[in-house]
Amino acid sequence: MSDLLTFVTTDYAGITRGRSIAVADYQPGKPKSVGWVPANMSLTPFDQIADPNPWGSSGDLRLLGDENARYRVALPGAATPTDMMMSWITELDGSPWALCPRTFLANAIADFETLTGLRFVASFEHEFQLFGTGWAQAPAFSLRALRQADPFGPELMAALGALHCAPEVFIAEYGRDQFEVTMAPSSGLVAADRAVVLREVVRELAALKGWRASFAPKTAVNGVGNGVHIHFSFQDASGANATYDPARPGRVSAVGGAFAAGVIRHLPALVALTASSPISYLRLKPHNWSSSYTWFGDRDRESSLRICPVTTIGGADPSRAFNLEYRAADACACPHLALGAVIRAGIEGIRAKLPDPPLFSGDPEALSPEDRRHLGLERLPATLGAALDRLEADKAAAGWFSPLALETYIGMKQAEISLAGEALDDALCTRYADIY
Ligand code: GLU
Ligand code: MG
Repeated sequence: MSDLLTFVTTDYAGITRGRSIAVADYQPGKPKSVGWVPANMSLTPFDQIADPNPWGSSGDLRLLGDENARYRVALPGAATPTDMMMSWITELDGSPWALCPRTFLANAIADFETLTGLRFVASFEHEFQLFGTGWAQAPAFSLRALRQADPFGPELMAALGALHCAPEVFIAEYGRDQFEVTMAPSSGLVAADRAVVLREVVRELAALKGWRASFAPKTAVNGVGNGVHIHFSFQDASGANATYDPARPGRVSAVGGAFAAGVIRHLPALVALTASSPISYLRLKPHNWSSSYTWFGDRDRESSLRICPVTTIGGADPSRAFNLEYRAADACACPHLALGAVIRAGIEGIRAKLPDPPLFSGDPEALSPEDRRHLGLERLPATLGAALDRLEADKAAAGWFSPLALETYIGMKQAEISLAGEALDDALCTRYADIY
């Protein structure tokens, strides 16, 4: 038996795909790539390539491994180690392919860092559900819910630790057999890579036990949502948190406020990239603790961009952990694309020197339309189709992509919408639960 090393990319459908070589054939320090196909980017989650698409049957690309982003771990019960290397999608000469999501993120981070002189730090928080476990229902957040999954939690934390993903907290969540894992912050590219690793490791660990893990935003129409919450902050050269300023509203620094304003301004377009499936919009509804309005909130879990709490227990420095949380994302979205788009929106806000968005806490649904307008609270698009229209109509957001990238993304998503069909029902949620 020869262990395999897989060169992976996570594509516009948020699915991690790749090709493998025998691990013995990999020579550290020497660039290694495997073949790839442009039309793969037009693959819908339903395994049908959007037709038409800009690529057809022609053209060739490479998946060029990033040797700083190799994740190898032996999972309990697996025949061979899981071994993946995050890869850049390149042309045959190694130059970046215009649609590579990882390059999209790396470029957004580089532009942010050039513009601000600050380091972009992030962490993805994931919720998921386990199916096929045969467990009795246990109360939400309970020790019993946590313990009946044993040793899933300890094995997952150990695997993430061995993968240097810095796991922090494992939670039995609110929903039935729903769990959450958080990881420590890292630089933006590493954070998105870790999101990929976490999803794949959770799925594999569950499958090794005969269960099925799903990160789908909804696994039943009236069920609990599985969110992906993207936490971020900025670090200055001294390592201090440049997002934090206790003298300002919400304790958000001027640069943090301008970034937040860009995110809020472009949110109706952003969700087309961060909540990227038709069923994502079953989750983005009021009173779901997800997000549903262009809403900047201080410690309010209904807001779309939330100022997170900090603790001062034991004399802790409140600036250390201070961060903002983008809540309008789910695991149908490619983490690199989602984070890259959030950063692009933030850059727009900084460049335009936008004032901080108004802070709101409460129930936007209880306000008059006029009061909502006054507070800048706009209901987010109610469907993926409407979100894609907003993406196309938002000239700045559309401009974050090359015309071919935008055409590919929108074309693939339109094909996904028609393959999903009209009914956003439990059957469709089950289809998504099986894929994600
Ligand atoms: N499950 C919620 C979501 O769909 C999040 C709940 C929480 O705040 O942890 O985003
Ligand atoms: Mg949660």
